[in-house]
Amino acid sequence: MITENVKKLLAEVPQKNAFGEPVTVVAAVKTQSIEAINEAIAAGITEIGDNHVQEFRDKYSGICGVQKRHFIGRLQTNKIKYLLGKCDLYQSVDRLALAEELARKSEAKGVVSNVLLEINAGNEPSKGGFLFEEAELAYQSIKKLGALNVQGLMAMLPLSDDEELLRSIARKMRGLYDRLNAADGNFKYLSMGMSGDWKLCVECGSNMIRIGTTIFGRRVAVAGKRNA
Ligand SMILES: *Cc1c(COP(=O)(O)O)cnc(C)c1O
Repeated sequence: MITENVKKLLAEVPQKNAFGEPVTVVAAVKTQSIEAINEAIAAGITEIGDNHVQEFRDKYSGICGVQKRHFIGRLQTNKIKYLLGKCDLYQSVDRLALAEELARKSEAKGVVSNVLLEINAGNEPSKGGFLFEEAELAYQSIKKLGALNVQGLMAMLPLSDDEELLRSIARKMRGLYDRLNAADGNFKYLSMGMSGDWKLCVECGSNMIRIGTTIFGRRVAVAGKRNA
């Protein structure tokens, strides 16, 4: 099932987005077993993203043949130490204090950490991330921090059936990405799009999508754990 899902997905995702950039598929592996993740990798997944530090640690050595590991969940500063040097891309840098602490810890360990700034694109109080209005200032501060390499932006679109609304937010994200990138051109990734909305995100200029349900099926809730 997972094998078929991955093959179908990879065949469907265009090689390049509307801006001529390659599109990277990241499997969102929260709550999935090591066996399920390894099956997805054997079928062609090359990058995976975790939401929980505990899961990242527990499964770390059991996962075979993956090229890059991302962190895509809310990260508490006291847990950074478990990811340092092992996480290829911190996608969810959603506040200045986290960026500063990640920079400090990376420097102390002698590693450079690649990060994306998470933008609260739908302006939703329940979600983390910088607001559109705050993004430029946050970027200017964070890119000055040593030991961090800001590679782009990440966003989760709101849950909505209003495709026009979603497209307008996705286009606004691409506009912000281009604007911030114009100065020094160091960006690589606009990470935007999940199982339900990745097509429109790629059409609007996303070049990295994070896919869970389409690969693994619907998640079963784990007692005492956030399933989001
Ligand atoms: C779970 C998750 C995804 C994938 O969501 P699906 O709808 O299952 O594809 C993407 N990004 C983040 C941050 C997630 O937590």
